[in-house]
Parts: sequence; structure tokens; C-alpha cells
Amino acid sequence: MATVTTKTGQVIDRQVMDSMLRRRLFYTPSFEIYGGVSGLFDYGPPGCAVLNNMIDLWRKHFVLEEDMLEVDCTMLTPEEILKTSGHVEKFADWMCKDPKTGEIFRADHLIEDVLEARLKGDKEARGQKVEIDEEKEAKKKKKAKDAKAIKLDDAVVKEYEEVLAQIDNYDGPELEAIIAKFDIRNPTTDGNLLPPVAFNLMFQTSIGPSSNMPGYLRPETAQGQFLNFQKLLDFNNQAMPFASASIGKSFRNEISPRSGLLRVREFLMAEIEHYVDPEGGKKHDRFEEVKDVELSFLSRDVQLSGRTETTKMTLGKAVESGLVDNETLGYFLARIQLFLLKLGVDQNKLRFRQHMLNEMAHYAADCWDAELQTSYGWIECVGCADRSAYDLTVHKNKTGAPLVVRQARAEPLKVEEWQIDLEKKKFGPRFKKDSKTVEAAVNALSQEFREKLALDLEKNGKIEVNVEGVESGKVELEKDLIKIEKRTRTENVREYTPNVIEPSFGIGRMLYCLIEHIYWSRPDDEARGVLSFPPVLAPTKVLVVPLSAHQSFRPIVQRIMMRLRRLGISNRVDDSSASIGKRYARNDELGTPFGITVDFQSVKDNTFTLRDRDSTKQVRASEDEIVKAIESMVQGEETWDDIRKRLPEFTGQEVE
Ligand code: AMP
Repeated sequence: MATVTTKTGQVIDRQVMDSMLRRRLFYTPSFEIYGGVSGLFDYGPPGCAVLNNMIDLWRKHFVLEEDMLEVDCTMLTPEEILKTSGHVEKFADWMCKDPKTGEIFRADHLIEDVLEARLKGDKEARGQKVEIDEEKEAKKKKKAKDAKAIKLDDAVVKEYEEVLAQIDNYDGPELEAIIAKFDIRNPTTDGNLLPPVAFNLMFQTSIGPSSNMPGYLRPETAQGQFLNFQKLLDFNNQAMPFASASIGKSFRNEISPRSGLLRVREFLMAEIEHYVDPEGGKKHDRFEEVKDVELSFLSRDVQLSGRTETTKMTLGKAVESGLVDNETLGYFLARIQLFLLKLGVDQNKLRFRQHMLNEMAHYAADCWDAELQTSYGWIECVGCADRSAYDLTVHKNKTGAPLVVRQARAEPLKVEEWQIDLEKKKFGPRFKKDSKTVEAAVNALSQEFREKLALDLEKNGKIEVNVEGVESGKVELEKDLIKIEKRTRTENVREYTPNVIEPSFGIGRMLYCLIEHIYWSRPDDEARGVLSFPPVLAPTKVLVVPLSAHQSFRPIVQRIMMRLRRLGISNRVDDSSASIGKRYARNDELGTPFGITVDFQSVKDNTFTLRDRDSTKQVRASEDEIVKAIESMVQGEETWDDIRKRLPEFTGQEVE
């Protein structure tokens, strides 16, 4: 049984929690009456409401607080752009096929499953207590040897643990070697598997009625932001540093989606691209504000030595010691932690894990993941990568667009360099539609290469240049088309390609992990769950419950409901005949933080009781005071403890 350990120390069956989430329509499998499609989910009313609140909070915490420039770019992306960014070639996972059954496995997940099963078997054989994951257990029932209680050599256990600690670090050939070395097979049939092959995760499509513009559904929101860089820089009056931000759907054709909302094929992302000058150590103006924030770090070195223990350290120390590469990256790690804590994440179940070198995306120079501990293990919820100047450089080289920052120099700079002059008049007629591509490729040539080409040109009267995008892949340029000379240039303006720090959030993933952190049940009612969403995030803020169906309550209920709605405070009325306690319990499952009871006293003097979800304590006060208290708690200005101190406690009514 896979279990969720709550804040209160209870151990709860994950299936119970999951079925509650589905029953209460937080989310539900898409196309379910047609059998569903794995990795696709729909959100129901409470799910939508929490997601929207999360996005709202994200906008306030990042876009508003940091004055970021938000954009909303198209999800359909022509192939050319994703070729340039490297996604067509490299955005892939490794998969293994069973040639007999046709089953397909994601290679790293398969290795993890099998080695973990064997380690559990070893623990059992040694008579140690094991925690059982129900999902995996069900699969294993059918399985052969991996599930058995077989004692392993100590050296083998160590080897397995080392492989698992760096499972994200392996490329295809390494995964193949591990599969062979540890004799990993199809867990259900014990059949041999074919070597891993790369599977591109992007959904391909065709833009327009003819098939001459292949495209993809975007796998991240980043590229749209990069392509608008120049316009955003202009919008920002050339001021650096600045950040763009975007919230929108991304699509990844995951090989074997599993674990509910954690690995899906279509998901909402919130991404920031913060552009920073690479010179001067990537300092950040507001680093002072976060330097004392303490984070739990799991460094690359610790993982490479086969361990997973974390070190607590302030960001100031982490940057000073070089663990975190620079202030800007560090600043965002702190801001990410602060955001996650605002959502209600349990800080003891949050760590920042550094990527190992092979694991990093093809564009990244350094990368940290904010991971949350769940019944599925540690799950990456936010990635924070230093993408260096990679993206802007490749798009600039490909298109010739000036994706650069230009700043006046205090002192002019003399630069000796190899310069290229092209004979534009001859260039057009010669290369026709390829002229721009050839020109961009020539202008992107390095100084070193220009020097060599200058000599070749001198000697042979012509040179050959590789040009991606023209049919033959290269062009020949004669002396009358190109001149390459060493000259001194005075630079009054400094031109540079900014580096990009990219915090990237998966909204659905954060929501699920958060739910595991805030879910619990009352000892006297274990069948029902409670979701302790912070008020700002809760789907519905207030439940209004009339004591009974008595006529005199109706107009009051109506008035309170409308008054709260006008204030933007979502609420629901439960005037069913169930006991008040039951009505509250039903709404605890939706995470509704506050309840107002309308009783006979209310009719007489317009006072109401206000109930707190987590403590079930109540206060009683006038309508105005109750509404004000709710408003201030929903806006995060006061907590229940503050309210309890200033409004009189009410113990009369039994609402349990
Ligand atoms: P990445 O670009 O792979 O670093 O992903 C950025 C963030 O997107 C991750 O931290 C996750 O929160 C989220 N994410 C990535 N892949 C998925 C997926 N298949 N399902 C849900 N969320 C995902």
C-alpha cells in the first residue's frame, strides 16, 4: 500500500486520498467513458478554482513583485524554430521495446522499478521492514524473480544504490550497459528487451492545409519568449536586467505517463526568462533581501558519490562557497522557496537538487530542481536553469536578428578583428532565396575561423563555408563575393548576448504534491479527508450553513452570500438536511477554510458564528465583523489565531 504521511503524523492510504480527489472532482481522467487516455486529465470545479488561485498568486509573487513582462505566445511552433533550439534533435527520452509483446518501457524508469524491487526483496530476505507501494506491488504480482525475497551481496546492494542515486545522469548507451549488466528484462514476462532508442517527446503536426510547414505543439513556453526578446527589450527602454514571463499549456508525448497528475502529456506551465549581463558575476540587486533564507541543498557531488543527504545552508553561504553558481540563480531559488511556502508546502518535504552534467537539458549551464517529497518519492516541481546565452545565440545565428543588448561604453574600446565584407549586389542574384541564410551563416563565423578563411581566400581565390539550411549544406564564395580583412574597430557601444536564468513551474504537478502535504483526516472521522489549503488558495472560501430549513434564515443566507460575492470571496450555501457537522465535514474535503452558521440568534441580533476548518473552533460576532475577519484572512493579512484573539469564542453549538 502506498501511503501518504500527513503533517500530523498519520499514515494514510494514497488510494483513499486519490479517490476523494476524483470523487470531489478536483480532477478526472479525460475521455473516461471511452476508456480514457493515459496522461490526459480534466480538472473539475474545485480543481479549476485552486489552479486559478495558484496562477493568481504566481502572478502576484513574480510578475507583479518583480515587474516582469508577461507574454502569451502561440503553442503551435514551426519546425524550423525547434530545430534551431535543438529540440528536434535532442528533446527525447530513452525507451526499450519488448520485441515479443510490443510493450514499451521508459528505460530509466524500468531500471528504477526493477532495482528498487530487488532492493526490497533483499530487505525482506534480511528480515527488515519494507514500505510497500501498492501500484508497483500490483504489477509485481504477475512478475517473476524481481519481486522475490532474495538476499543480495552487500556489494550489489551498494551498486544498485549508486545507480539509483544518479539514474537521471545516464545517456542511452549507459542505460543499455546497465540493463545488460544487471540483466533487466520485461518485469511481467521476463522477456529480453531491445536496446534503448531515443524517442522525441514532441507532438508533431502540420500547420495549414498543405503539408509544407511541419510544426510541433510546444514542449515549453520558453521559445516564444526568446523570439520576442528584442521587442521586449525595446518595450523596456533597453533597460537590463529584465524578465519576461508566460503562463500556458505545454505538450510532451511522455513514453509511459504514470502517477496521476505528476506525469501528463498536456500541462500548464508558468515560466520566467530572466535576462542578465554575463559580465560581472551575474549579480542581483535584491540578493541582500534573500541572502539569509535557508534552503536544503542536494548537490551534484553528493549524488555522484551515490548518496542523497541534503545540507541546510543560507543562500548567502551557498553562493559564496560556489555551490550555487551566481547571485541571480540564487535569488530565484529563494523566491521559488518563498512561493512554495506561500502555497502551503511543508518545508521539511522540500529540497533543491542540483542536476548532474549529463542530466542537464542540452541548453543548460547549471540547473537546480525544487523537489517535493510525496508518496511517489521526491518529485521535481520547479526547474531553475541557467540557460547561459544558448537560446538567443542560436536564434540570432540562424536568422541574423539582433537578439542582443547594446549599451554605450563609458570609454571607447579598440578591437582588432577579422572583418567580413560581402558584395551584396552579387550575393542576391547568386543565392536567391538562400541569400539571407548564407549571409547569417557567414556573419556567425568565429574569429579563429575567419583568420583561416582569409588565408584560404588569399591562396585559392575562393573558400567553402558550411551553411545549414541550403540544399548542399555548404556554399562556395569567390573573391569577388567576399573580403576578409584584419582591421581595428573602435567600439563606442558594447554589444552582448544576455544570459538567461529560467525558473520553470509545472502548475498541475505542484498542485498534486501540495495536496499530499496538506491532506489529513480527523482521528474521529478517518473516512473523510481534510484539505488544509491556505485561505488564499482554497477553491471556496466560505461555507454558509443555515441551522435548519426555517424560512426566517433564507433572506439572511442570501444577503451574506451576495455580500461575500461582491467582495470577490467565493462561497457556497449548504442548506441540505444533513447535520451541521456533516455539512462542514463534506466541505473539509474541498478545503473550505471558513464556515458561517446562520441560527435563530442571527435572526434576532444579526450575529453569526464563524468556524475555522483546521481547529474546528468558532467565534461569534456581528455580520460586519465576521465579513471583515474573513476578508482579512483571505487576503493573508490576518490568521485564524489573530481572529480568535480579537473576537469572542463561541462554544454553544455542536458542529463536530
Ligand atoms: P522541465 O522543462 O523538464 O524542467 O520541466 C519544467 C517543469 O514542468 C517541471 O518542473 C514540472 O513541474 C513540469 N513538467 C515537466 N514535464 C511534465 C509532465 N509530463 N507532466 C506534468 N508536469 C511536467
